[in-house]
Amino acid sequence: MTGELQALLTRLHEKDYKLTPQRKVILKAFVDNKDEHLSAEDIYGIVKEQYPDIGLATVYRTLDLLAELGILLRMNFGDGRFRYEFSNSDVHQHHHLICMECGRVQEFADDLLEDLERRVGEENGFRVVDHQVKFYGYCSECDRKKA
Ligand SMILES: [Zn+2]
Ligand SMILES: [Zn+2]
Ligand SMILES: [Zn+2]
Repeated sequence: MTGELQALLTRLHEKDYKLTPQRKVILKAFVDNKDEHLSAEDIYGIVKEQYPDIGLATVYRTLDLLAELGILLRMNFGDGRFRYEFSNSDVHQHHHLICMECGRVQEFADDLLEDLERRVGEENGFRVVDHQVKFYGYCSECDRKKA
């Protein structure tokens, strides 16, 4: 087992949640697919291979729980289903580029928004502490096909 998975399981245990095999295997699916933004259906597809008995309802319930505990971050990219990724509450979350053709989600780390945050805050008398940005468009592959 990787150290990362172990740390997550410990976190779950600390909050008095049992480490059921289903929870374990769902967390492992996230560890194994760290760069992806997985939906409940994606997770179900991965986990089913090891646990054919698992139901989609269990996956939904587990994802809800993990999001509530702050282990996962729930995101809506406007394609009608929630996607999940690990939440790192200590650092500012990266931002997302969403392809409107194939649904691929890319991440970008560049943050040019500190100035904007300050200006919006000053002009509206609001103390901004965080932001989330999504850019919609076409990934290079889809864009090439369109041309
Ligand atoms: Zn695309
Ligand atoms: Zn992401
Ligand atoms: Zn940012």
